[in-house]
Amino acid sequence: MKRSIILMGPPGAGKGTLAKKLISLGLVHISTGDMFREAIKAGTALGQLAEQFIKRGDLVPDEVTIGIVKERLSQEDCANGFLLDGFPRTLVQAEALDEITKEIVRPIDVVLNLDCDEKELVRRISGRRVCKVCGAPYHIDTLKPKVDGVCDLCGGPLYQRNDDNEEALKVRLEHYTHQTKPLLEFYQVKGLLHNFNGSLRSEVLFDEIVEFLKS
Ligand code: ADP
Ligand code: ZN
Repeated sequence: MKRSIILMGPPGAGKGTLAKKLISLGLVHISTGDMFREAIKAGTALGQLAEQFIKRGDLVPDEVTIGIVKERLSQEDCANGFLLDGFPRTLVQAEALDEITKEIVRPIDVVLNLDCDEKELVRRISGRRVCKVCGAPYHIDTLKPKVDGVCDLCGGPLYQRNDDNEEALKVRLEHYTHQTKPLLEFYQVKGLLHNFNGSLRSEVLFDEIVEFLKS
């Protein structure tokens, strides 16, 4: 099975939702966005720095982001496979990742790209709610919790991310178009890129991807 995986796609394409399902295959989920949000919640120096960028929709500086990913990928649990979600987002990060994977002797097996049209992204993100405790994603219209405002999985409170507003989303989409989207070409040339339809229902997409990873 393909076990060293990069998940790519614009904000709202469903990377996080898919990743949380794929951990059932024994892959370690490495989400830079989740790592930053945890650091913010814990009030660390990293969190204080990252928050300034994230709330505006801007990218956290490369050297900071590369540092945390390098440290995470060097940990023992990644030896069995990992799922990078939200990294790399710039060419500098992609080149640094090439070096890191050489050092840990685990080359990237595949890049899964989730396509999704912009109107759908805006709809998904503006209605998105997230569990404060376990990070499970919900949507006010299409993925409602059983009890309003409460996570089905852990009972934690649901909240709206402070970068899930119209203004920050516009900035995030621009960074995606100008800095992250060009990476598709970078991985296409390496023969690693595989496109999937991010507009599919999450269960359907999950089945398709599991089948592909096993092929
Ligand atoms: P989404 O994919 O919905 O935009 P993420 O949770 O992946 O959200 O990321 C949230 C924010 O965290 C980004 O908008 C950015 O500010 C920061 N971030 C996450 N990953 C990176 C990265 N690889 N490089 C720079 N900033 C990042
Ligand atoms: Zn929860």
